[in-house]
Amino acid sequence: MGKVLIIGCGGVASVAIHKCCQNSEVFEEICIASRTVSKCDALKEKLEKTTKTKITTAQVNADHVDELIALIEKVKPDVVLNLALPYQDLTIMDACLATNVHYVDTANYEPEDTAKFEYKWQWAYRERFEKAGITALLGSGFDPGVTSVFSAYALKHYFDEINYIDILDCNAGDHGYPFATNFNPEINIREVSAKGSYWENGHWVETEPMEIKRVYNFPQIGEKDMYLLHHEEIESLALNIPGIKRIRFFMTFGQSYLTHLKCLENVGMTSIEPIMYEGKEIVPLQFLKAVLPDPSSLGPRTKGKTNIGCIFIGKKDGKEKKLYIYNVCDHESCFKEVGSQAVAYTTGVPAMIGAMMLLTGTWKKAGVYNIEEFDPDPFMEALNKWGLPWIVEENPELVD
Ligand code: NDP
Repeated sequence: MGKVLIIGCGGVASVAIHKCCQNSEVFEEICIASRTVSKCDALKEKLEKTTKTKITTAQVNADHVDELIALIEKVKPDVVLNLALPYQDLTIMDACLATNVHYVDTANYEPEDTAKFEYKWQWAYRERFEKAGITALLGSGFDPGVTSVFSAYALKHYFDEINYIDILDCNAGDHGYPFATNFNPEINIREVSAKGSYWENGHWVETEPMEIKRVYNFPQIGEKDMYLLHHEEIESLALNIPGIKRIRFFMTFGQSYLTHLKCLENVGMTSIEPIMYEGKEIVPLQFLKAVLPDPSSLGPRTKGKTNIGCIFIGKKDGKEKKLYIYNVCDHESCFKEVGSQAVAYTTGVPAMIGAMMLLTGTWKKAGVYNIEEFDPDPFMEALNKWGLPWIVEENPELVD
């Protein structure tokens, strides 16, 4: 069917690439390009014996638009799948515009020197993508991504109006380390040490980090502590779900993780302000990343499950309705299938599906769109087929 250029070759990219190679009819050819080309070459060598997908590799620094343009012109992909870091979103979008190629990512742009992510920078590309006749599909991971598609699906099939959404992200996996992050440590720690916020009655309500705690009894997992965080899909769902009154996002954290994080914060290790160390400028959080376990090394050690989904409260035929849509994923099964733990798996699978939606022309709209703005049905079907089956539960336990 077509060719995809995948930028980045970390935890999430590795899963997406495995999945593209399982789906050779659609992904006839992929080029894996990243800063460290040896990682791309190693993955190519592992996978090419197992797949009909033709794999090539390339070195690229995605901070440089001219390098990206040269690469896209050489590879001539139908879609660019950005699985590098949020800092590279805009340079990759610029390169897609210059070469007229569709764009997909899993995380919204965040300037490297301010831990603040929001969509305004990427939404500013709307008119240019529209004029160029190409699509930018934003947030095709799990959250954002699948949670956004769950919301569009609930609205399409179960509700006349959705008033409340609680997005619950539970990782009950145990990797045996006292402290490690399940995806890029720098991005992860920036996210969880930031102030929390939720959307209520048309505006943001800000909270202190980890200020709001709830306990929830997750299906197939059991009771876990969860904390309210700011999360990027809230911003777009607040605009795209008519009638919405409140959207909150909760993530589970164990006590050991929180104690370590607090201690690292207290000593200044999570700061993104550069400091001088032995005559060299270093960023404490980047140094911390270098000493923490690489998330891709967690795969063989992690046991347990994730449960990520959304609880909706709204109206159907004039009556109140409550619904929970979620996916449960098992760390060890993911590792067996693609050599990665479930956090990378739950992001990499929807990244592949998003690229497939554009490659096959199933989703076709010129401009910049969040994922809930497309028809959710083909994506939901693909989730069942490609390893992330979902469950719909009526009248679930609610979060107070
Ligand atoms: P990793 O750190 O494991 O991988 C990042 C990859 O990008 C590495 O291969 C890295 O190269 C490469 N890279 C970084 N900077 C550049 C650059 N300037 N030029 C080219 N390549 C570069 O991250 P993850 O796989 O954990 O995360 C990938 C993305 O997925 C992130 O944006 C993250 O926010 C997002 N994510 C989204 C989720 C969702 O549900 N929506 C959940 C989890 C993650 P090198 O090997 O040289 O370091």
